[in-house]
Amino acid sequence: MLQLSFLIKLSFLNNTKTKINNLAIKTTMSSKESNLEELANEYKNRSPVAIIKFALENFDNIAISFSGAEDVVLIDMATKFKSDVKVFSLDTGRLHAETYRFIEQVREHYNIEIDVLSPDSESVQNLVREKGLYSFYNDGHKECCGIRKVIPLRQKLISLDAWVTGQRKDQSPDTRNDVPVVERDDAFSTIDKELIKFNPLSNWSSADVWEYIRSNDVPFNALHQQGYISIGCEPCTRAVLPNQHEREGRWWWEEATQKECGLHAGNVKQKS
Ligand code: SF4
Repeated sequence: MLQLSFLIKLSFLNNTKTKINNLAIKTTMSSKESNLEELANEYKNRSPVAIIKFALENFDNIAISFSGAEDVVLIDMATKFKSDVKVFSLDTGRLHAETYRFIEQVREHYNIEIDVLSPDSESVQNLVREKGLYSFYNDGHKECCGIRKVIPLRQKLISLDAWVTGQRKDQSPDTRNDVPVVERDDAFSTIDKELIKFNPLSNWSSADVWEYIRSNDVPFNALHQQGYISIGCEPCTRAVLPNQHEREGRWWWEEATQKECGLHAGNVKQKS
């Protein structure tokens, strides 16, 4: 295991655009996980900039997932190293008008392409025909999120070796408390292909994110000026009151431990 770890690090040092999976595929599942854990440990106290730099230097086929304030911070950091960084965003068809304008604002501000992913129209039509436009209030968000977010994301991730997310531990004490700065994405890796997920802002607080946004003139969603903190789809997002946790503005009719839309399904703790 140590030898493998050494080889991985050596490969990184040689800047050979390492595919962790190419090396790790020769090992058992537990040793792969151990090596990523070692990497996560090594980088857990490094700055988000150092983590993004590492990710971009070691993976060509990597993209940033963009929807919220954290993700624009990542784009801002990444474009300082790589002007043509790959970015994608999920257009569920249920976003606020302000969010669509925000996506466009970011595209223009950084002069980048944003791959805006749409859900399968037939699946959406079937869901709406059978259950209406607001079925999630009655039987939970998983079915709708599955069609509008998870399937398009899965199709995108299958083309990548790694992705970068804006997850922070303090976004949700119930589901994100253990988010490492780098991990194997168990939700979207396949038998044939391992996917690596970087979470450079894992240890940042909301205050850290907003300090960066203010200091670097980073664009942000106009909804933040109306009391919204964590912003998703319009029917499933609401503004929060002072001292309410940001996650209370998402799927407020559901139990806190289940408040993940499937993009980070590995965070959801199974009920015993
Ligand atoms: S957040 Fe709400 S509207 Fe958006 S995909 Fe999930 S359930 Fe559907």
